Amino acid sequence: MPERPIRLFGDPVLKTVSAPVEQIDDRVRALVDDLIDSVKLPGRAGVAASQIGVNLRVFSYNVDGEIGYIINPEIVELSGEVEAIDEGCLSVPGLWHKTPRHAFARVRGIDLDGNEIELSGTGLMAQALQHETDHLDGLLYLDRLEKDERRAAMKAVRESDWF
Ligand code: ZN
Repeated sequence: MPERPIRLFGDPVLKTVSAPVEQIDDRVRALVDDLIDSVKLPGRAGVAASQIGVNLRVFSYNVDGEIGYIINPEIVELSGEVEAIDEGCLSVPGLWHKTPRHAFARVRGIDLDGNEIELSGTGLMAQALQHETDHLDGLLYLDRLEKDERRAAMKAVRESDWF
């Protein structure tokens, strides 16, 4: 299946807490396929299922040439300094804001065979793992911004031609 259109800020699907995958069936396999196809496009580091309109706990990633996915991810470790680094989101196109993130993140979940897997890393991987897990909890990176930064971001959103 081809990549699916990305839902934009303002769509209620992005603010909904996603449900865990209870059973790995053809629907979930198709969802993973679509997430992989959707994250392959240049400039994409991660796509959460909610961003393509499905409130299930699955996301894909594309970091340093490595493309993959995880089902039912849970953050099991956040460590290192919290630093505000430039972050963007496909659902908030054209905007970048300094977002506080931990330097290292580790998530644990399962693959399509039901086997436990872990993803971890620093840099862009740490950022992507935190950003995509937030999506599954109905959070956007805008929700993580300091007050003044958030105010500036919301103004920029309102002035965007896609909004
Ligand atoms: Zn995002």
